[in-house]
Amino acid sequence: MKGIGTSPGIGIGKVFIYKTPDIKVIQRKIEDKEAEIKRLDKGILETSKEIDILHDLALKNMGKNEADIFTAHKMILEDPEFYLAVKEKINIDKINCEFAVKEVSETFISMFENIEDEYLKARAADIKDVTTRLLRVLLGIEADDLLSISEKSIIIAEDLTPSDTAQINKEMASGIVTEFGGRTSHTAIMARTMEIPAIAGVKDILKEVIHGDLMIIDGSNGEITINPTKDTIHMFENRIKESKEAKKKLQTLKGQETISKDGHKVELAGNIGTPKDIEKVLENDGEGVGLYRTEFLFMDRERIPTEEEQFQAYKIVAEKLDKRPLIIRTLDVGGDKEIPYLNLPKEMNPFLGYRAIRLCLDRKDIFRPQLRAILRASAYGNIKIMFPMISSIQEVREAKSAVEEIKEELRRENILFDESIEIGIMVEIPSVAIHSRIFAKEVDFFSIGTNDLVQYTLAVDRGNQNIANLYSHYHPAVLNLIRMTIENGHKEGIWVGMCGEAAGDEKLIPILLAMGLDEFSMSASSILKARYLIKNTSKKEVESKLDEILSLPTADDVERFISK
Ligand code: PEP
Ligand code: MG
Repeated sequence: MKGIGTSPGIGIGKVFIYKTPDIKVIQRKIEDKEAEIKRLDKGILETSKEIDILHDLALKNMGKNEADIFTAHKMILEDPEFYLAVKEKINIDKINCEFAVKEVSETFISMFENIEDEYLKARAADIKDVTTRLLRVLLGIEADDLLSISEKSIIIAEDLTPSDTAQINKEMASGIVTEFGGRTSHTAIMARTMEIPAIAGVKDILKEVIHGDLMIIDGSNGEITINPTKDTIHMFENRIKESKEAKKKLQTLKGQETISKDGHKVELAGNIGTPKDIEKVLENDGEGVGLYRTEFLFMDRERIPTEEEQFQAYKIVAEKLDKRPLIIRTLDVGGDKEIPYLNLPKEMNPFLGYRAIRLCLDRKDIFRPQLRAILRASAYGNIKIMFPMISSIQEVREAKSAVEEIKEELRRENILFDESIEIGIMVEIPSVAIHSRIFAKEVDFFSIGTNDLVQYTLAVDRGNQNIANLYSHYHPAVLNLIRMTIENGHKEGIWVGMCGEAAGDEKLIPILLAMGLDEFSMSASSILKARYLIKNTSKKEVESKLDEILSLPTADDVERFISK
């Protein structure tokens, strides 16, 4: 079987099918009301302990934002209104506590589901989550959650939410396979951060396997082998060994500059989503952070993070990087990145809609505190500001003037910040790539976002597994836009980086180097391999092939040519 490889590496393990348990609650008449309430209390206590464990695991694996989901779950579990309603049902109707919990939770859930407000609507899912857990405990059903994995396993699921992913124990997860999703989905990005091999978009995987099957996955090419022969296992074990050895060898590149064989120097940076991710960037000797996706700071929580909370998050990373650059991207919400409490209107084409910079320029209550936090943090390191989803010059000018206003405000308040902070934009919409000579006059740098540039250039939804075969950063049209952007940036004297997934693609790195890309920003785990490749590539040699590559008719032709 085959899917879309979303996080590289080979995983071998037993199939662990992850789905929400099938819970059937039957109504029973009870005699001893006191005993039933005691059973309820015991169940709540046990559930609360489970949630605590999940909280700590999420904190360890992912960070505070993800752990906060469980703090919210605990508040629901311990909500006095909910508890009293269940108790009253047991006392009045003389029914078993499971049935009372089910009835009360259904009333609460439908009440929340029927509210117009998107934020409150989303709370229904949380109540469902918590009460399902409580019912499972009361019924004595073994936890089938990711927490209970106790041997090397490949997790198979229809889909995983970021909060599911947060629960994954890195030591036990050899891989993740999902029926939905694509390379640039959140779960994929998280899996890469955690260095767990992953494959998405495998349509009928749940029909093909049973719990306990042995499985091998290759996250680099999306290949899946179910119940492999001894020889196959042996072959893959050898590959794991080889890749561990290769990784070890790469360690010797730490502390070295990234210079091509013919002496051209570039910068290798890491992409991060949470402050915690900076550890991996430093471990892999990243020369900076080329993309800090701040939207993760806004997710899985109840309200917009305050200026102070944001300031702390940005400052920690800036300080850890010391003098190395940190590019903070302002909120890039929308598309597949939802933030329920913002109550954004449902749209026909969310990827083309009211999102990212478009939203921020309209919602100063969100934009201003973020800009203040970034500017304040700029006193503690080498911070640069980057705006996402830019499609017009007016947006650049408006966003820059918002920064100027905040600078003025901070000067008045005598708050320190970096007066000469660089301001750049993502080049991820074709209009900007095509018109990049003009855009380059307005900003200090470009960072090419290939994840979106591919989707908008080819009109292929980046998360839709049914058309994933059409989504490729090898498409000659995309590569021509990339070259055009780099050349135009250089003509106007600005540097050009790339923070889309293409920047870490081993096959594409020599091409990007030859095009003159100045900065490559990627998942931390790809940094040292990229340094190795660049050190062994002659820029001039690849330059001589660029015209030929860029005139090839199809993405497949390009991929074949550069794989030679
Ligand atoms: C991109 O679009 O290439 C990018 C880096 O940003 P994101 O994946 O967060 O949209
Ligand atoms: Mg993008």
